[in-house]
Amino acid sequence: MERYAFAPPCKLPRWPFMPPPELGSDTVTRHPIVIAGAGPAGLTLACELAQRGVRAVLLDEDDTVGVRGASSRGICHAQKTLEIFDRLGLYARIADKGITWSFGRTFSGEQEVYSFNLQTDSVSVQPPFINLQQFYVEWFLVERILELGLVELRWKNRVAQVTPMDDGVRIEVETPAGRYTIDADHLVDATGAHSLIRTQLGLDAHASRSTDRWCISDVRFRKPLPTERWTWVDAPFNEGRGVWQHLMGDGVWRIDYQMPEDCDTAHISKPEVAGARLRAQLGPGVEFEFVWIGPYGYRDHLLDRFRHGRVLFVGDAAHVVSPFGARGGNSGIQDAANLGWKLALVAQGRAGDALLDTYDAERRPAAAQNLEVTRRSARFLAPRSAAEHTLRRAVIALASRYAFARGLVNTGRMSVANDYPTAPHLPQGGRSVQNLPLQWTDGTPTTLMQLLADGTQLLGLWFAPTRAQAAAAIDAAAALPLKIVAVGGDCGLPTLRPEAALSRHLGLTAPGALCLLRPDAYRAALLDEATPALLVAALRTALAQA
Ligand SMILES: Cc1cc2nc3c(=O)[nH]c(=O)nc-3n(C[C@H](O)[C@H](O)[C@H](O)COP(=O)(O)OP(=O)(O)OC[C@H]3O[C@@H](n4cnc5c(N)ncnc54)[C@H](O)[C@@H]3O)c2cc1C
Repeated sequence: MERYAFAPPCKLPRWPFMPPPELGSDTVTRHPIVIAGAGPAGLTLACELAQRGVRAVLLDEDDTVGVRGASSRGICHAQKTLEIFDRLGLYARIADKGITWSFGRTFSGEQEVYSFNLQTDSVSVQPPFINLQQFYVEWFLVERILELGLVELRWKNRVAQVTPMDDGVRIEVETPAGRYTIDADHLVDATGAHSLIRTQLGLDAHASRSTDRWCISDVRFRKPLPTERWTWVDAPFNEGRGVWQHLMGDGVWRIDYQMPEDCDTAHISKPEVAGARLRAQLGPGVEFEFVWIGPYGYRDHLLDRFRHGRVLFVGDAAHVVSPFGARGGNSGIQDAANLGWKLALVAQGRAGDALLDTYDAERRPAAAQNLEVTRRSARFLAPRSAAEHTLRRAVIALASRYAFARGLVNTGRMSVANDYPTAPHLPQGGRSVQNLPLQWTDGTPTTLMQLLADGTQLLGLWFAPTRAQAAAAIDAAAALPLKIVAVGGDCGLPTLRPEAALSRHLGLTAPGALCLLRPDAYRAALLDEATPALLVAALRTALAQA
């Protein structure tokens, strides 16, 4: 095997530029929803809308997926993201191509100091994590969007200028065939970390840049390594600095090496230098081929608000975190799932504008939480002050002898679904629920995501309502986006078997209780003794109509 061969795992697809109808026209067309940016966040939003029967225009300045000339950025896709992809109909492809894992080990020097099994707390059909190169996920999203058919995907269409208006947004777009203008009722900025829209609107994202430096080696080995997530806080084979090791699709390993802060980035990325690092780690005889080598530094930022009038920000355009714990792409995809059903209901005239404010009320705190968690990891890995250095040394020393200190060794806390704080539309707070396997009373299997997949409505799971209650609730909520499913009992509605996991996970512990679930699989309300009137009131509250 050639030691320094570069072997891209696959050829990325390209989609053709199609001149849009507005080119060369003096009339400005108005679209209900325009999404700028076809990365994971913009594509997931487009897919959500298409699945819900809502049209959108998606503009991207490029004509392919991933970052041209670079390797994959994201690789770890968390359970909540995988559940969203299941609902959107692309999970099977991701599971097929990716590497499923739940177990991670952290080492200090030669010693294992911490391990976790994320499967322990899971009741979901989806695993805690699947590793797959981000460009594959984007590729599968594009193909699913094309299959669903309602989104106009415009490649090589660069958003050049955005002007907010009272009732919408004016957007100027550059293409290889010239410039054109469109209006949108709502514009979603999914253009990533360097959003030009954010800059044009004069919004400060409070960016801060770290001086910590890393070098990625994406590598194929002749002899496989264990398919667990291994991290070293101070690897002896990397001069006492951090190392990460993960398998992704096509048998490619992502190995990240922490580098000295003042390193020469061109030098550390040379194949012979990266090759020497691999041999120091895996032995002089290790046989490998490089797929890609590249240095990276990281930054973070967070917008003060994710909604500015008719412009909404999702993904890296709204928030960027350091890559420790895979919270970047995952949270952008979860932004999209949060916004998708709300925009769909507003575009269909079935909910008011106030529902869109709840996007900011939920996803901004989620992003702030992710920022806090990843900053803590980043500062453990690259301490900034004498006190932080002392703390780190003490934690590492104690971890080798005492169990209590092991959990403090922080090489990244893996992405989890963020619960939402209490708010007027969420009086009990919003709790993420997992994709439980379920059964109808006739034994037919289903899942929670399947119950949430069609249409855009909230789901009332009601523990053994009476026939009279069920009929009255259907009448009372006739004009509202609600589907009711019974759990046990004999009320004439579609009925699930009352299994223990379902009752426990959703809090349906006694007959009469009702769990109101949102289309993004968050619990909006738990009613101990539901009545049709209480159910309608809870639904209106969740839709920000109260
Ligand atoms: C080394 C590294 C490892 C990472 N690992 C993980 C991980 O394991 N898991 C994880 O969840 N996250 C990870 N991330 C983070 C993840 O890659 C990003 O958070 C994610 O790509 C953000 O998605 P996005 O859709 O918001 O933006 P982007 O992916 O940046 O997409 C933006 C899109 O907008 C388009 N665009 C830009 N400007 C314009 C314009 N003016 N007009 C039209 N189109 C435009 C671009 O062409 C692009 O397609 C990692 C990041 C790095 C750097």
